[in-house]
Order: sequence, then C-alpha cells, then structure tokens
Amino acid sequence: MNMTRLIEARLIAVGDELLNGRTLDANSHEIEQRLVRRGVTVGGVTVVPDRAAAIAAALDATPASCLVVMTGGLGPTPDDLTAEAVAAWAEVPLREEEAIAAILRARCEARGRPYGPNMVKQGMLPSGLAALPNPEGSAPAMVGDLRGRTLVLLPGVPSEMRVLWPLVDAWLDESGRLGPARPVLLRRTTRLSEPVLDRLTAPLLREFPGCTWSWWLTRWGVDAQALAPAGADAMPGGLAARLDEVLGDRVWAREFVDLPAVVLSALRGAGMTVAAAESCTGGLLGAALTDVPGASDAYRGGIVAYADDVKRDLLDVPEALLQDHGAVSGECARAMAAGCRARCRADFALSVTGVAGPGGGSEAKPVGTVWIGLASAAGTFAGRTRFLAHRARNRELAVAVALDALRRHLADGGDPFANAEVDGWS
Ligand code: ATP
Ligand code: MG
Repeated sequence: MNMTRLIEARLIAVGDELLNGRTLDANSHEIEQRLVRRGVTVGGVTVVPDRAAAIAAALDATPASCLVVMTGGLGPTPDDLTAEAVAAWAEVPLREEEAIAAILRARCEARGRPYGPNMVKQGMLPSGLAALPNPEGSAPAMVGDLRGRTLVLLPGVPSEMRVLWPLVDAWLDESGRLGPARPVLLRRTTRLSEPVLDRLTAPLLREFPGCTWSWWLTRWGVDAQALAPAGADAMPGGLAARLDEVLGDRVWAREFVDLPAVVLSALRGAGMTVAAAESCTGGLLGAALTDVPGASDAYRGGIVAYADDVKRDLLDVPEALLQDHGAVSGECARAMAAGCRARCRADFALSVTGVAGPGGGSEAKPVGTVWIGLASAAGTFAGRTRFLAHRARNRELAVAVALDALRRHLADGGDPFANAEVDGWS
C-alpha cells in the first residue's frame, strides 16, 4: 500500500492531570523529537481534559490528511474515554478486537484477577483502527485512518508510550506513510550549559546550511542534535568531525544511551568496580547507577553520609579535617572517596559533598557549591563546581559531574578535574 506521505502532525495529550498542575505533558515532548527525526513537522500540541467533547473539539481542529498522535485515556477507569470519544467523533462503532481480548484475558488469569468490564473495555477499538499489543501494560496502541486523518492512540503512561513507539513507527513505515528516516547526528554532553553549547556550535550552523539543529537540557547536561537537510540521504561530509572538534571531551555519547550506562559499560570493559560516598545527593548517584539493569557487575554499593559524624564514623574522614576545612571542601571530598573505596573494596569511589540549597550557603561556600571526589589506585582527586539552579537540578547535575569524572578517568587515567572547564550551569 502506498499512501500519501505524512508531513505534518498534531499531538493531542488527554488527561485532567495534565491541566491541574499534577503531571507535565512529557509525552508530547518525546513524541515531537521522534517525529522530527522522521521528517514530520509538528504543527501544534493540544492538551485536553478527560472529556469526550474536548477530545472531539481537538480532533475537529486538526487539518485533514495529517497525522494525529493522541496519548492518554486508554486505561480501564471510567475517566479513560479516548477510544470511545474517537469512535463518537468519527461516527464509527466500537468493536471488540479478539486478539487483544485474548491477551487481556491471559493477563488477568496470570494475575489471578477476574476479566471484568474494565478489562473488556481496553480491548474495544473504534472500527477502522487496528491494535498494536502493549508489551508492558494492558491498553494497546490503536492506529489507522478515520475522517481523512491518520490516527495513532497511545496509552498515557510514559514507559508504555515508549515501548509502543517502535511498533507505531514500523506501522507507519510498512504502510508507506513516512519517508525514510532523516540522517541524524547526536552528541550528549555534560559540564556544559545550553548557552555555551549554542555558542560553540554557532559557526557550524553557517558552515553546514540546511541542517536542522536542536539543543536541549537533559538529566546529565545538554544534548545537541543536527538533522540532515530535508531530502538529503546522508549528513553533510565533515560535519561529524567538526562537531567533535568543537565539543571535545565533553561528549560522552553519540546515541541515545544514558551516562550511568556509559560509565558502567566502561567499567565492565575494564573489569573494574565503583562505589559511591554521598552527602548532598543523598543516594541519587547510587540510584542512577542501579537504574541500569546489570549494574551489580560493576557497582559495589554506596555510603550515604549526611552528617559530619557519619562521614567520620562510616567513611573514616578525620575529625580534624572536618574541623579545619568543613564538610564542603576538596579535602573532605577526597577523604570521603578514599574512605569509601577502602570500605567498599572497589577499584574506584566517587564522592559528592556540597550545598544543594536553597539554604545553607555562605559567602565562602555559596548555594550550589559542590565538591566531587574520585579515589582510584592512581590517587585521589577533587574538583569544585558551582551550580546555579534550584536544589533538585543542582543535585541532578552533581550526579552527572561525578559520573562524568569517572568516565574521564577511565579514558585516560588522569586527574578528571584538571582543566575542568565548567562553562556555567543552568
Ligand atoms: P492507564 O492504563 O494507566 O489508565 P491511560 O492510557 O489511561 O493509562 P492515563 O490514565 O491518561 O493513561 O495516564 C496514566 C498516567 O500516565 C498518568 O497518571 C500520568 O502520570 C501519565 N501521563 C499521562 N499522560 C501523560 C503525558 N502526556 N505526559 C506524561 N505523563 C503522562
Ligand atoms: Mg488512565
């Protein structure tokens, strides 16, 4: 089947929780990135409450022959009414999809739960749409053409939306609705703020006209991405090398992998282990590492030592050192890392000690001052950073800089904080 190519999309995010300040519409943000990579322009995003009339009005507002991606409201509860509302808008009946019903029945049986009306409801599709089974949850994705639009309905739970997306992408491909994926270059960085990244890449925008650039903040720092000019089947020659030249050793990935996974894989490759001594991050560094499946190969464990006497008793930071330099100091970061490395019997230990804010700052140690330490067989190292964001972001960036320090040390065995250019933070 060769359909007209889709070049424009509209997104509709459904959910009361998206409109009362409880949940941020992160799904649309992710879907925009995925569509742009497929050469589809997103012409607008509408967020609507869980009401059939609002869903119909949003659908009415989409131009004919565009791709409409909806998320949310496919679940079992009475407020989940997206499938029903779409069927009413398109004036088609809801029909039971036998294949999905069978999957849902089996899911219920495996969990020892009755296959009740709530479950039956999730196997009901607007006539004209096909179901893509959900590998993670119960509500399937629904895809097909209604009233001149190509509709994609996805569950609201972000992880389910993510696992279903490749199936949607494959369906769009098979049905000839999308052009070939646009070649893309991605660089993931840390220790770099968005304005500085923007400044570093600015000359490339002139050198390689026609590419579509984007920069965005991540949990680990900032990403930069360039899409090949529309219609081009490859990136312009020389762009990748120029990008690497301007970004240098701040780049830790060229594909969508996360920093802890990069660090753990480098450790695994070297057959080595790490431990974490955390003060102001309170366990976030250990959590980031253990978020990665299989972390136990390389992560030994951590010691969260918030109070000074816990740093002394569990990490062997000398009392005199704490008296002389305070807990937020290079000396303390080094001692915490060394103590943790010995206590956890790891090849490397990272430490984090700082003032996350909003209180607790002083003239000498303003809010956002964080010392990161690293202990290895080669010695102990420490570097100071000054984050300028709020408490949650300061803690997040401290985790990123700590992981990045180990990444650098694994690469060259040197002081990861030497020439550490921290170009401002957001
Ligand atoms: P469920 O089967 O869980 O009911 P659903 O398809 O009905 O899934 P919703 O009930 O709308 O989806 O949302 C489930 C959860 O997913 C919400 O509580 C919210 O936390 C999250 N969520 C929904 N929409 C979005 C969105 N646009 N961006 C980010 N998170 C979302
Ligand atoms: Mg729901």
